[in-house]
Amino acid sequence: MISLIGKTPKELADEWSLSPPFRAKQLFKNLYSGIMNFDEMSDLPKTLRETLKANGTFFSAELLRERVSADGTVKRTLRFPDGAVIEAVVLTTDKGRKTACLSTQVGCAMGCRFCHTALGGLKRNLSAAEIVEEMILLRQKSGPISHIVFMGMGEPLNNLDEVVKAVEILSSPECCHFSKRKITISTCGVVPGILRMAEEKMPMKLAVSLNAADNKKRAQLMPITLKYPLEELKDALLHYQDAVGRRITFEYVLIDEFNDSIGDLTALCRFLNGFHTPLVNLIPWNPTPNLSFKSPSNNRVHRFLQAAADNGINMTLRRSRGRDIEGACGQLAGKDSEK
Ligand code: SF4
Repeated sequence: MISLIGKTPKELADEWSLSPPFRAKQLFKNLYSGIMNFDEMSDLPKTLRETLKANGTFFSAELLRERVSADGTVKRTLRFPDGAVIEAVVLTTDKGRKTACLSTQVGCAMGCRFCHTALGGLKRNLSAAEIVEEMILLRQKSGPISHIVFMGMGEPLNNLDEVVKAVEILSSPECCHFSKRKITISTCGVVPGILRMAEEKMPMKLAVSLNAADNKKRAQLMPITLKYPLEELKDALLHYQDAVGRRITFEYVLIDEFNDSIGDLTALCRFLNGFHTPLVNLIPWNPTPNLSFKSPSNNRVHRFLQAAADNGINMTLRRSRGRDIEGACGQLAGKDSEK
């Protein structure tokens, strides 16, 4: 069976030999209209509906498992026909904002020491169609989604062609008509990808997982620092900021007695100097099986926040969500892959 969700009109036209040219657009529009039955696509010729019914399927992925956290976070694992398992998450905030956190790769090659996904290495990239499938499945199960963040399994800037293609499909009026400005790409600091976002003036938001503003310390957490040291990362980000004119968000996972001292905060202030109104999301480390870091005490968290405020840094405390449902990125998919 050939899956249809996530294919461009041109791909649909080629795969199903569709003519006249408007037929592919008609089918594309039907796929995202909420109709989940080829028979009900009444504007398509009967012969085409019969062919689609006999040989086509909406999704290639199957929903393996769904877990709902006490805080409302819903984590789902999806399995593709080759056996690849990924996670897709919906986070609901107090303000009613519903964010889909999408994976872009099966596993990840970046080896961040605080990340569960990193433990299994990279298996493969997701195609644009598979990324779109994630989103449409989440929308089907959780209702309308207000924001998208590419922060699930994988490094989106290492699969940027497919991510950009998925964004184009999701933002097209016949699909979700999703505003590109409500889409965030979160990176561990892949400099060539940041420069490409700048050169092409991509309208998506950019978030950077920083976690330490000292090369030696950051390299212990994030091996990418050895390839792209903080100075090079900062130059690329400043270039992006000038080219695109958008505020950059920085993620800082606070780990007890590792990156939570006043000296660490001073290094962070130095790094942020030159960025226009950067926003720092402070996320106290959440204990995770197989990873040995310690959570900071509330006192240390608040000391760090206060010191940031004293230095004019716009820092917001974020609690990691879905703690009761294998909340760490890749934790649930890791379990389901083992089955
Ligand atoms: S944090 Fe992101 S980039 Fe780092 S290993 Fe995990 S999935 Fe990859």
